[in-house]
Amino acid sequence: MKQSVIRVDGANGLVGSDVPFYEFGDASAGPTVSLMAGVHGCEYAAMSGLRRFLDELDESTLRGRLRVIPIANLASFHSRTAFVVPHDGLNLNRCFPGRADGSFTERLAFALFEEAIRTADFHIDMHSGDQVEALEPFSIYDASSVEEQSRTLGVSYGLPYLLRSAQSESPIAGTSSAAASQIGIPSITAEAGGRGLIDDASVQAHVDGVRRALSHLGVLAETTAPIRTPVELSHWVWLRSAGSGWWASSVEAGEEVGAGAIVGTVTSLDGREVREVTTPEAGIPLFLTTSPAVEENGLLLGLGIR
Ligand SMILES: [Zn+2]
Repeated sequence: MKQSVIRVDGANGLVGSDVPFYEFGDASAGPTVSLMAGVHGCEYAAMSGLRRFLDELDESTLRGRLRVIPIANLASFHSRTAFVVPHDGLNLNRCFPGRADGSFTERLAFALFEEAIRTADFHIDMHSGDQVEALEPFSIYDASSVEEQSRTLGVSYGLPYLLRSAQSESPIAGTSSAAASQIGIPSITAEAGGRGLIDDASVQAHVDGVRRALSHLGVLAETTAPIRTPVELSHWVWLRSAGSGWWASSVEAGEEVGAGAIVGTVTSLDGREVREVTTPEAGIPLFLTTSPAVEENGLLLGLGIR
């Protein structure tokens, strides 16, 4: 194991950061795989899954190299900030591949992308729902010239749902997996756990996912992790609030809903004005906001469509 840091330059009065970075194995023996968690600072089940995987890893069994960033976004982790980076209010997973001359989060994205991702053969970005997000485990791969390799990587990770994200779906442009696949690196975003919890099932889902994915790539020998075939989803619909107020969902993540179904309400702060939130298409709520606090155009729910 080789330990180093990825440095975000803090010269000329700018905020900097050192992100711990680890390499395991030998690039001459097989492919290089980038494994990253903590792009969002409070997605603890994913970080915990990566920690457990590393704790249980026997480096001598690797046939290839792992480039590992256990917590990519230390600013949000240490300040317990959901979704965005406190220095500039940007969502790191909308900023890849980043900018060398941008704001803090854009420079962080640039450093992570250049140092850890660009030189890898495959990239896996591990997420959970954030502090106020519940989710049904799923993986995302992006439309790209390497999408079939990304898709099979997603199948191997083995979470219950696998969603293809088109380039035109602007809500999630700038993710690390989208940026990687755009330059020909097969890549997935894997999501399990949420709400700031570290539940064993979600942690183990990530451990098993990483093992199966690395076995699929030939970096690890056959794994004993149970094989599961995901349900494939063709696209997203994200539901947003028409106004600010008090959001209450009436469905659970993972519960199938029909077209036109009521999935919750946004009420005025005195509770007297009620606005129902309905689905435009039948689908599966893959994630939903669990906090009642919602602003106009605030994200309520992400619906995966078969
Ligand atoms: Zn995330």
